[in-house]
Amino acid sequence: MKIIMLGAPGAGKGTQAKMIAAKYDIPHISTGDIFRANIKNGTELGKKAKEYMDKGLLVPDELVVDLVIDRFKEDDCKNGYVLDGFPRTIPQAEALDAALSAMGDKMDYAINVEVPDENIINRMSGRRACVGCGATYHIKYNAPKTEGKCDTCGADLILRDDDKPETVINRLNVYHEQTQPLIDYYTNKGIIAEVDGTQDMNDVFNAIVSILGE
Ligand code: AMP
Repeated sequence: MKIIMLGAPGAGKGTQAKMIAAKYDIPHISTGDIFRANIKNGTELGKKAKEYMDKGLLVPDELVVDLVIDRFKEDDCKNGYVLDGFPRTIPQAEALDAALSAMGDKMDYAINVEVPDENIINRMSGRRACVGCGATYHIKYNAPKTEGKCDTCGADLILRDDDKPETVINRLNVYHEQTQPLIDYYTNKGIIAEVDGTQDMNDVFNAIVSILGE
């Protein structure tokens, strides 16, 4: 099963993507996580990506597309994957379609997790990310067991630079201009499914499972 998660930054698509990956036993491919790992490891790609990410801008398409398409060649992708944060522009979606059709393949679902902008700004200021493993929490809706520490690896939790309020507003503008058109793109392809992302995360997940099947 090949799934794309769509939705504004902070809509909860990363959380849902992880839950989908666990239930259907497919890898969760997050371009944001790949960039953050590269930043942490001080790679050239990480240095380039950071300049854009810290401003709330998208990393240029040419730095993203090959990275994801190469990832598909790994063994764990043979039964599908859930893409989180990719594609984010029409050219990325077209490049993805071209690469899949060259492999005789196609995407099965694009799930749009819908959350209004005002809820997003509220949510993102409470988001915390683990400096060790990248796990994300929310101080109110998904709090760690010990304040400021990751449940999984025990490392410190921080407010990511790109979750700071001024950056969030930029990210939302970028989302509306560059990523939202993908909803029409996948509607035209007949694979869009909409879920109400304002619900409790388990209810959002149940709505997704009812689309994907047990
Ligand atoms: P995310 O964790 O998915 O919200 O991504 C964090 C940041 O990484 C974004 O704000 C972008 O700067 C960058 N990024 C992640 N995925 C992409 C993508 N598909 N295209 C361009 N930039 C991306």
